[in-house]
Amino acid sequence: MKEIIDKISELKEQRNATILAHNYQIGEVQEIADFVGDSFALSKKAKETACDVIVFCGVHFMAETAKILSPQKTILLPVRDAGCPMADMVTVPDVEALRKAHPDAAVVCYVNSSAEVKAVSDVCCTSSNAVSVIRSLPNHRIIFIPDENLGDYVARQLPDKEIILFEGYCTTHKRVTLEETDAARKAVPDAKLLVHPECRPEVVAKADFAGSTSQIIDYVTNAEDRRFIIGTEQGVLHWLKQKHPDKKFYLLSQKLICPNMKKTTLKTVLTALETMTYQIRLSEQIIERAYGSLEKMLRI
Ligand code: SF4
Repeated sequence: MKEIIDKISELKEQRNATILAHNYQIGEVQEIADFVGDSFALSKKAKETACDVIVFCGVHFMAETAKILSPQKTILLPVRDAGCPMADMVTVPDVEALRKAHPDAAVVCYVNSSAEVKAVSDVCCTSSNAVSVIRSLPNHRIIFIPDENLGDYVARQLPDKEIILFEGYCTTHKRVTLEETDAARKAVPDAKLLVHPECRPEVVAKADFAGSTSQIIDYVTNAEDRRFIIGTEQGVLHWLKQKHPDKKFYLLSQKLICPNMKKTTLKTVLTALETMTYQIRLSEQIIERAYGSLEKMLRI
């Protein structure tokens, strides 16, 4: 393993590259990354960092978002088919049909979507800022794509808005059931339950806190509690355990593993740097229009 890590560092220097890893990546990949974070934090990092090449250890839509925000950089996704099933659930014709059915509504798309879908949406959001983005819009009606569970969570926070939901979902977070949640609570009754809003509404309703991956990390950092049941992808435990060795973490469900996030290994990162693959390529028009949706979000 040391040999691979040394080769990665050598090539990183030669290529003037930065390695970004999502919190859901395997521990070894998080260890060699220059920055670890959630999807949007990493895309912003990709934009701010002075380098020529970004190796994005995550899934396809994240690398695309980095490309939209930094079109002049070469963005590499080490595993070509590391995709996000939720992002693939909504297409441009879906958005067009929804717009036709609800012409007065604004289209808000979760960052977990393709560049093409971002390009035809009014504004993007992340799981951290979905509520504030939608609250800021003048429209009463909002078409929220693609995550039905996040949309439902937002609708509960904003009863004055009418949120039209789409039937997309995260294949990992949706697997967690109410029965498992009750069992986890019973097993560690003094632990705080922190869940991602991509979980089912009945699971979110049982939580002490619902928030994005970075908000869950912040909650743990600032809490005086010692025990936490974590209701998001298990990769985040690697970071939490390292940063908070004095605290104890329990995964809400052993099903909280995203197979696409686990495709990237040290070997695939090395190959990406050796062969400069797989490069994210988007047309100028898509970049320009998708940037508009992301930029609007950043201004809110
Ligand atoms: S955890 Fe869910 S939303 Fe995230 S990449 Fe995997 S399938 Fe997509």
